[in-house]
Parts: sequence; structure tokens; C-alpha cells
Amino acid sequence: MKKERKKKKEQKMSITDKADSMPKIYRNSYLSAVSGKATPRNAIKAFCIECMGYIRSEVTKCETIDCPLNLYRPYGKAGDSDD
Ligand code: SF4
Repeated sequence: MKKERKKKKEQKMSITDKADSMPKIYRNSYLSAVSGKATPRNAIKAFCIECMGYIRSEVTKCETIDCPLNLYRPYGKAGDSDD
């Protein structure tokens, strides 16, 4: 039981540390996704933006066609919003 609590605490700290280290604009969508509150679309968005080092234009340009998320990735067009 004590071990489980310790593990959960470590996971929570890991999430908090990660959120603190990312650009503020992407923090809430990440926290929503890891807490299960985001839509699948927004969770994919959070994953892709992290994958590309928080550079939105890189997600737009992503050509990794063997990634299972490629056809679902956000920002398919340069002007796509963060909504
Ligand atoms: S689709 Fe591209 S940006 Fe999204 S997770 Fe896959 S490789 Fe990364």
C-alpha cells in the first residue's frame, strides 16, 4: 500500500515537472489529457505538439507516415487554430 502511494506520488510529480517545463500555452491541454478529461482529438494534439518539441509548424509539416497518429494529427494546415 505504501509502495503504491509512493509510486502515485512520483507519477504526479513527473506530470507536474513535465507541465512546468513546457510552454505555458500547451500546459492545460497536456494536463487535461493526462487526467483523462481531454477529448481524443485534444489528447492527440497534446501528444503531437510534444513530439515536435512544441513547434506547431513542425506538426503541420510532419511527414512521419508510419506514425499511427499521422492521419489524425492537428494543424494539418498552417492556419489551424489551437481550439
Ligand atoms: S503524427 Fe507526427 S507529430 Fe504527431 S506524434 Fe506522429 S510523428 Fe509526432
